[in-house]
Amino acid sequence: MPDAPFRKLSSLSLIIPVFNEEESLPALRTELERLLPSFTGVDVELILVDDGSTDAGPDYCAAWAAEAPWVKVVTFSRNFGHQPAVSAGLRYAGGEAAVILDADLQDPPEVIPEMIRLYEAGYDVVYGRRRSRSGESRFKLASAWLFYRLMRRCVHKDLPVDAGDFRLMSRRCVDVLNAMPEVHRFMRGLAAWAGFRQTAVLYDRKERLYGESKYPLSKMFFLAWDAISSFSALPVRAVNFMGLCFLLFGFAVCLYALVQHLSGHTVPGWSSLVGLMTVIGGLTICSVGIIGEYVGKIYEEVKRRPLFIVEKTLNLDGRGAKKPVGRQ
Ligand code: UDP
Ligand code: MG
Repeated sequence: MPDAPFRKLSSLSLIIPVFNEEESLPALRTELERLLPSFTGVDVELILVDDGSTDAGPDYCAAWAAEAPWVKVVTFSRNFGHQPAVSAGLRYAGGEAAVILDADLQDPPEVIPEMIRLYEAGYDVVYGRRRSRSGESRFKLASAWLFYRLMRRCVHKDLPVDAGDFRLMSRRCVDVLNAMPEVHRFMRGLAAWAGFRQTAVLYDRKERLYGESKYPLSKMFFLAWDAISSFSALPVRAVNFMGLCFLLFGFAVCLYALVQHLSGHTVPGWSSLVGLMTVIGGLTICSVGIIGEYVGKIYEEVKRRPLFIVEKTLNLDGRGAKKPVGRQ
């Protein structure tokens, strides 16, 4: 494991996706401005990606950018979602390394100096690993715990457990992510997939102090499904396997029915028939549905629509013109 510093970080991009965060932004500003002097010798830029906010957040971001040239704003034409917003931030980032964090200060910026230290020691990816997580429901804690462990076991063995998108990435890792053309992006999975030297920093995830979570259960579910289906055809294989089991079972039932028939026993059979038909019918529909999900994904990908559309940028002159939409 590398520990002695062998490089010095010269510039850092902080990437923050923002969606209806008017209550959190003033606290975020205070906290970042307080921390800024601790990044001595590092040229820091902040990239706020406004993901189609409908509150007063965009005005706050614009006013902040007007006062501080290190603050840059990318405004989407509508709400595209958290993962496209993070992708846009990475696309615009000009730093030698980039850190992704939430606008609500749940990912404490005071952890960033430690991330930088590990980057300087030679790591390409330093992800924040949640030691504790306050303010979340028992359901969210339990489902997240199970999700990461199942993902590692069945889908993506390198996916770090209990880590969200709060991470530092080196320029070469950012470039790899930027070169990935897919629309359905599970960024933390893609970062793990990219490889390089990766390590964790433990931190306590705080409660959200202002506003509400922008990740309702439905969005979490779709993110989880994206995570599974982007990295594995396991669900298709699983239903295939189930189908095979039912086929074998069906053969056994046929054999039994034949023996009954030849031995002259009349089999009432109605309930078992109905039962079997229902189970097999359900399984067939379920299988077709899962295959349909993959076909749907292929459909989304082949359309090659942009991942996001940028309406305007602030303090990003020269960089914006090349990247108005989220495609190479
Ligand atoms: N976010 C976004 N677009 C969305 C939803 C969320 O840019 O469609 C941003 C949000 O403003 C926040 C980050 O993504 O900065 C994470 O969202 P949130 O804190 O609501 O998620 P949670 O921490 O509850 O999982
Ligand atoms: Mg949050």
